Amino acid sequence: MFKRTSVVAIGTLGGTITMTSNQGAAGVSSTLGAEDLAQSIPGLANLNIKLTLKTLANLASGSIRFETLFNALRWAKQQVEDGADGVVLVQGTDTLEESAFLMHLYWPYPQPLVLTGAMRSPSEAGADGPANLLAAIETAASPAMQNYGALVVMGDEVHQARYVKKLHTTSVGAFASLIIGPVAYLQENQLIVYRLPSPNRFVFDIPDQFTAQTLLIETTLDESVALYQAIPDLGYQGLVIAGYGSGHVSEKVRDVLTPIVAKMPVIMASRTGAGSTTKAVYGYKGGEIDLQAMGIMMAGGLCPRKTRLLLNALLWSGATRLEIQQRVKQFGEG
Ligand code: ASP
Repeated sequence: MFKRTSVVAIGTLGGTITMTSNQGAAGVSSTLGAEDLAQSIPGLANLNIKLTLKTLANLASGSIRFETLFNALRWAKQQVEDGADGVVLVQGTDTLEESAFLMHLYWPYPQPLVLTGAMRSPSEAGADGPANLLAAIETAASPAMQNYGALVVMGDEVHQARYVKKLHTTSVGAFASLIIGPVAYLQENQLIVYRLPSPNRFVFDIPDQFTAQTLLIETTLDESVALYQAIPDLGYQGLVIAGYGSGHVSEKVRDVLTPIVAKMPVIMASRTGAGSTTKAVYGYKGGEIDLQAMGIMMAGGLCPRKTRLLLNALLWSGATRLEIQQRVKQFGEG
C-alpha cells in the first residue's frame, strides 16, 4: 500500500546534544546545528520522513530566554501552517521540562510538538542524542501522537509536558513523569500508546508583551523572612512558593505573606517533587486551610516550576485574580 512521506521540521536551540569541544577550550559548548544532527542519525534514510531543518540558536538551555522560546514557537507554528506533520525542537535538558510546558501552553495544533535533547554530548561513548532525535522524529510524524500538545521524548519514552521532570544530573534515564509514567513508548520504530490525550486542552494566544516577572522560592527549615519581606518592592507581579509537604510554610513565613498577597497572586506548590497539594487537611498556622483563607491559591499537582510558567502566561494574558485562580485549579487538577 502506498504510504505518504511524512514531513517533520526540526529546529535546534543548542544543548549537550549539539555540544563539542570548541577550539581547545575546556569542556564542551554548543557548536552543532540542525543539519549536523540530522546527519548523525543512523537509520533515518529507511524511514519515509522528509525533514526541514533550522538552526535557531546555539545556547546552553539555562540561558534560553522567553523571547527565544516565543521565536521558536512562531517558527514551529509556521512549519505546521506550511504542511509539517509534526515539529521537533532540540534543546538542552537542564530546562527542557520548562520549555516543553511553556510551549504546551501555546501550541494550538493537533500535530505533535516534540522536544528532545541528550544527556551525553556527541563526543562521549554511548552518546544518546542520535537515538533521542530519531525517536523524537518518529513521534512527531506519528498520527497516534496527535492532540497531546507538547511532548518530551528521551530514551524511547514519550512524556507529556505537564508531568515530565529531569530527575538526575547525568543519567541517560534522567527524565520521568512521576506517578503517571510516560504516555507512549517507542519500540522497533512503532509507538506503543498507553494513554489517550486529555480532551479540552486550554491554549493561550502568544502574548504581545511578556515583561511581567514572577518569582519562585522554596521554603526551607527555619529560614529568615527577610527575602519574603522584600518581595513586594522587588518588581515581581506574582509569587510561587515551593512549600513543605502538601503546601505549607512556617508560622513566621505565613505571618509575612499578607502584604505580598495584597499586591500580587501567590500560589502554593509543593517542594516534594510528586503528588498534589491538599485543600482541607491541616488547620495549623501556615497549613493549607489557613493559607487559602489568606487568599493564597494551591497549585494542585502542578510542580512549582511549571506553576510559575502558568502564572507568567496568565499574567501576560492580562488574567484577573479570579481567572488565575480558576486556571490554576484546572491545570493543577488536570
Ligand atoms: N546539561 C545540559 C544538556 O543536557 C546543557 C543544557 O541544558 O544546555 O543539554
